[in-house]
Formats: sequence, structure tokens, C-alpha cells
Amino acid sequence: MPSHIIQPRKRIALVAHDNKKADLLAWALYNRGTLSRHTLLGTGTTGALLESELDVPVTKYRSGPLGGDQQIGAAISEGDINLLIFFWDPLEPQPHDPDIKALLRLAVLYNIPTASNRATADFIISSPLMQEEYETSTPDLERYRKSKRQY
Ligand code: PGA
Repeated sequence: MPSHIIQPRKRIALVAHDNKKADLLAWALYNRGTLSRHTLLGTGTTGALLESELDVPVTKYRSGPLGGDQQIGAAISEGDINLLIFFWDPLEPQPHDPDIKALLRLAVLYNIPTASNRATADFIISSPLMQEEYETSTPDLERYRKSKRQY
């Protein structure tokens, strides 16, 4: 399986549905020191909220329902995201549920560590690997293409 090296400075995508934004914000404020040593990206509203409350730069994609989840999925497929912190709402259907499913699928396919709740986010952010290089495995696209005869 192919692999590549993730640098100590990680590219972290942060997304929270409306009912989960307060949870994500509280987590991010608590971990502001660690997060500020990495590159942060997020969907439009979540990104703007984090940027103003944490006073750290966040690259903002479109708002989730307007395509932001799809943009983050595309960035994952390009190798531009190393971690996904996505507090999705398990109690409310969302207008962009298909986009959310697509994002979570790509995160699994590309072997991206993903936190969907605060406990998982705590375990990820306290990992020593957050400060180190990490050799990650990626899908074998060449083999997949050959098996499908796709070019
Ligand atoms: P938002 O999008 O950060 O723009 O609210 C999040 C989402 O609903 O996926």
C-alpha cells in the first residue's frame, strides 16, 4: 500500500452542525494552544466562529449546506487535509445529508483520523503523533484503476 509522510504541523479541518457548534467551540477554546500550532480549515460558519473566538486564522470553505462539506471532501482526495474534526448532529436531519455521507466516506477511504464527538477529539489531540511526523497509508489508486480498467 502506498504511504506518505504527514508533517508535525497538521492540516486540520473543523466542521460542526448548528446544534454542535457550542460543543466544538468549547473544545477548540480549551485546546487553543495546540490548535494554533497547526493549520486550521473549516466550513464557512464554523470557520468564521472559530476564527473570531480563538483569534487564530482559519481557511474558510463554503458553508456546509452550500457545498463546504464537498469542498473538504475534495481537499481530502487531493491530500490537503490530515485530520477531520466533524461534530455532526445525530438528532437532526440536515438538508445536505448526502454531502455529509460523502465527506465521511472519503475520510475513511483516505485514512483520515476523524472525530465525531468530543471524547474522540480529546484522544486525537492528546496523541503524541500530533507533534510528530507520521507515515500514513493511502489507497492504492493505481491498483484500483487497473482493476477497473480506468484511466
Ligand atoms: P457551517 O457548515 O460551518 O457553514 O455551518 C457546517 C455543516 O453544516 O456541514
